[in-house]
Amino acid sequence: MWLVGAGPGDPGLLTVRGRELLATADVVVTDRLAAAVLLDVARPDAHVIHVGKSPTTSRSQDEVNALLVEHARAGARVVRLKGGDPFLLGRGGEEAEACAAAGVSCTVVPGVTSAIAVPAYAGIPVTHRGVAQDLAIISGHLPPGHPDSTVDWAALGASRATIVVLMGVARLVDIVDALLAGGRPPATPAAVVERGTTPAQRVLRTTLDALVVDAVAFGLRSPAVLVVGEVAARRDAAVPIPPVAAATAAPGARAGSGWPGAAGGAPLAGIRVLVPRTRARQGLLARRLRELGAEAVETVVSRLLPTGDATPLREALPGADGLVLADSDEVAAVVSLLRGAGTDVRALTGLTLVAASASAAAALDALGLACVRSSAEVQVAYTVVTEVPVPGLRVVICGAAAPPVGIRTLRRVPLLVDAPAEADPRIAEELRHGDLDAVTLASSTAARCLVELYGPLPDGVLVAAMGRRTAQACEAMGLRVDAVPSEPGIYPLAAAVVDLVASRRAPTA
Ligand code: SAH
Repeated sequence: MWLVGAGPGDPGLLTVRGRELLATADVVVTDRLAAAVLLDVARPDAHVIHVGKSPTTSRSQDEVNALLVEHARAGARVVRLKGGDPFLLGRGGEEAEACAAAGVSCTVVPGVTSAIAVPAYAGIPVTHRGVAQDLAIISGHLPPGHPDSTVDWAALGASRATIVVLMGVARLVDIVDALLAGGRPPATPAAVVERGTTPAQRVLRTTLDALVVDAVAFGLRSPAVLVVGEVAARRDAAVPIPPVAAATAAPGARAGSGWPGAAGGAPLAGIRVLVPRTRARQGLLARRLRELGAEAVETVVSRLLPTGDATPLREALPGADGLVLADSDEVAAVVSLLRGAGTDVRALTGLTLVAASASAAAALDALGLACVRSSAEVQVAYTVVTEVPVPGLRVVICGAAAPPVGIRTLRRVPLLVDAPAEADPRIAEELRHGDLDAVTLASSTAARCLVELYGPLPDGVLVAAMGRRTAQACEAMGLRVDAVPSEPGIYPLAAAVVDLVASRRAPTA
């Protein structure tokens, strides 16, 4: 088993040794912060296990330890990939210990730690001749004063050392208070670097006393590194993070960086976008966002349920010649509505059943019901119905099918309603931890169901809504909308996300 440091995010900061091991691993057990490195390097057939390590994730440290031991014992080449350096605030020691206890050999491969590299990318040297000769790297996980904390905050406040705090975003108020109480001057420079070394890097520079207020205004989110001390005001040899608009104009600006697309102009590289999906726009929006470099996280937020009211259907059937069914869900809904009304498919006797899709045809077929249908799946009712040799055909159209041109539509009967699907705990957790940068809402149903499932979104998440109706639905659900494209469509919506991200990056680029 190899305990490999992945570096802070930029794949170019993975060590040569780490890369060699990763490229030959059978099993890779990775943290979320380390995952970007993987795309580049791991074998396509490697078994990759994500163990998003955060205080609330499902896998405990014991489970991770057990997983490592189990795969190593099974004879696999196991790489445990950890953000930054495995032995700095990463619990790598515990994993090594667990392996040793189980008789599994374990070797550490140090990594470039975020504690030093992330400030460096922002131009902050953690020590500087004549300014700071000592550096304290602190975990902000436990607040100052916590009984389990081993940190002497008072002494840190009294010293002139550079202080680098990891995992400190949630404890910012307590940390600032403790340092001021210890005697740090209020005007001490402070800087926070969010998602350092990635294309999404943002930097906030302020002073200790203004840090909390400024961080709120900045919309600071984890992961971020806090630097307190005189060095935090410096800008020495910062690594240029290409502003989105300039990315194509200056290819190679980041020679040596491994970020796919960062220098090549993928405008959403490093950006994670939540794409709530209803049935209607399956996959296309996510695909477009991926083309633009984003990591699109799709989640189904609504499902279709039968309306529960058979009356409109039963009233529509007498006098109709045909019934157009959009898909298998509608077929199932008809069956269940009729059953609920104390009858069954025999109520359809004499009707020409029109399947407007292959799934509708298959569902009718399974019920032993003959139907007519179009050969092309996407050809909805029109072609199909005109093939039916009944002059003056009167049809009843179910919910989603398009009305056939030239055919008398008796009535459109809604069969299904959108209801929120199951909440996905992983999505809830990512939202809670600020791991998602933006959300695209392609319909009012998506907006409504998203909020019903996950509650109000965290402030930092950018929201792009497809059109006016969707934006109104967002507002009705208490959701702030940051962008509405001037015309509806998947491309304009994705472009709106690009613009939003660009405007958000601009002040710090
Ligand atoms: N072993 C890791 C640290 C793990 S603790 C290392 O050596 O870097 C996780 C914390 O590291 C985060 O809460 C954040 O404070 C910091 N961190 C890791 N990667 C970061 C990044 N790219 N940008 C900003 N902070 C980062």
